Amino acid sequence: MIEGFQADLHCHTTCSDGTFSPKEVIMAAKAANLQGLSITDHDTITAYETAFSYAEEFGIRLLPGVEFSTIHKGQSIHVLAYAFSSSHRGIQEFCKEHHERRRVRMFQMIDLLGKQGIKLSADEVFEDANSIGRPHLAKVLIRKGIVKNLKEAFQEYLGDGKSCFVPSNTVSTEETIAIIREANAFAVIAHPHLIKQQEIVLDLLKLDFDGLEGYYARFQPHQERVWIKIAQERGWMITGGSDFHGSIKPQIPLGCSWVGESTFKVLYDRYQENLNG
Ligand code: AMP
Ligand code: ZN
Ligand code: FE
Ligand code: FE
Repeated sequence: MIEGFQADLHCHTTCSDGTFSPKEVIMAAKAANLQGLSITDHDTITAYETAFSYAEEFGIRLLPGVEFSTIHKGQSIHVLAYAFSSSHRGIQEFCKEHHERRRVRMFQMIDLLGKQGIKLSADEVFEDANSIGRPHLAKVLIRKGIVKNLKEAFQEYLGDGKSCFVPSNTVSTEETIAIIREANAFAVIAHPHLIKQQEIVLDLLKLDFDGLEGYYARFQPHQERVWIKIAQERGWMITGGSDFHGSIKPQIPLGCSWVGESTFKVLYDRYQENLNG
């Protein structure tokens, strides 16, 4: 059977908290018969420093993307941006600010662990991380035998509100959308079903987004239907992707959610426009 065009628009690499390098993700995309891909690391686009040449080598159409950590009324909200030029100064500068914010926060969490008698050196935590986050810290706790697994690390120490958690002092959702607009890129609400408070969702639906992520990980058709309807009512695009993280989330394979050619084309055409303009 000849499969149609499929593009996974949400995945992570070792540049943030994924376990596959950009090259390995591109090879995995090829192995999963994907024709298109967007790497959406948390608050960083450094994967694109090497990914384009691998995409060309393996015949994958690569669309620049990123998943920004934002805050709306005290709630953490992930915003996907697509189709900017990876050399856009505004996006690069914004990622740099996030990088510094994440670094400072990580030192605060290492301090809190220290106060509980868990002494970690910053070097071992920062070792292989670019856009550093709680999963990196969890990995060190697992390696040292302090916790058994990721789940325990979050339950005992790092989860929201737990003893060593430091809330991320990040940029508002609205300011983030403005920065994405400035780059002539698309702003999309990531995994809206994960936002627990309904009033926050209703609020976000009033903001100047271009779309929402209606196909996600191993969603069932009835889960997709809700979000497809909401997007259609607003004339928004519906994006989709796996949110692949490699071996830290082994139950989610690359390509388990995707978009077809028509959605990908809208995004990719804008990217070409931004490259040439
Ligand atoms: P950070 O950006 O540093 O706040 O870390 C957020 C990342 O940690 C998310 O993207 C998830 O991959 C992971 N994460 C958050 N909460 C949990 C949890 N309860 N269990 C496992 N992983 C989690
Ligand atoms: Zn992640
Ligand atoms: Fe996310
Ligand atoms: Fe993600």
